[in-house]
Amino acid sequence: MKKCTRQFYYSKVLKLGGDQSGSLTVLGSVWHFAVEVYENYDHDIELAKRTFVQYWENPDALGLHIDYWHRGTSRNSLRKRGLAMLDRYHELAPWREGRLIGTEIEFHVPIGDNTLKGYIDKLWYRPGAKRVEVIDFKTGSYVPQKLRYNVQFSAYCYATERPEFWVDIPGFEDGYERFKGWQRAGWWYHARNNKMYNAGKRGVDDYKRLSLAVLELVRAVELDVYPLDISGENCAFCPYVEEICGSEMNDPLEEL
Ligand code: SF4
Repeated sequence: MKKCTRQFYYSKVLKLGGDQSGSLTVLGSVWHFAVEVYENYDHDIELAKRTFVQYWENPDALGLHIDYWHRGTSRNSLRKRGLAMLDRYHELAPWREGRLIGTEIEFHVPIGDNTLKGYIDKLWYRPGAKRVEVIDFKTGSYVPQKLRYNVQFSAYCYATERPEFWVDIPGFEDGYERFKGWQRAGWWYHARNNKMYNAGKRGVDDYKRLSLAVLELVRAVELDVYPLDISGENCAFCPYVEEICGSEMNDPLEEL
């Protein structure tokens, strides 16, 4: 579910809390955690699968909670899906080509007068090609058409070009100097169909575009512009639909 800007306003600006998680979101988080174990414990697929099952049965141990179940999903069906995605991940040959820098890397880097914060699912480098590549794991069914212009990848690549990014990465504290001038690029790993989609290279023009996007976002917050979402896609699961948002409409036909 995409969030509407009004939801962002209630949750992040007014800090009213109430964020809800669907079963597919929690599946994605538990799966990410199991992949992190896989990457950091010598590609031990059995350990990763045991980890997945343990936390899928008890997501609260990771601070996760399923507030609602997406249609057609159950704990059993999603357990099978998560395990199958891990098996396919393990079998994917291109993973052997890169050298791992880290997984679930949290960053805070400056961009103009603002700070960019995020998490990179997996970061690796290819010495032969002199490339540092960001890999984003997706467990949903959606694949965007315009990955080359996807701002998320621009943000991740930009972050890796900043000195602040590297200071806390074990074994790569010298990464800023070491990877200076190397090409940045991204991959979208689609876990459900086991495919890597090339998100393309990133460079200065992409970072300018990112910087404009950040400025526009800041302006929207300053101007207090958060239009209601009337698509009907979000409101059904939104915790603010009654009383706070007031977007729940009276039936106009009833009033006739
Ligand atoms: S009820 Fe609908 S319009 Fe209001 S915040 Fe939630 S999703 Fe947005």
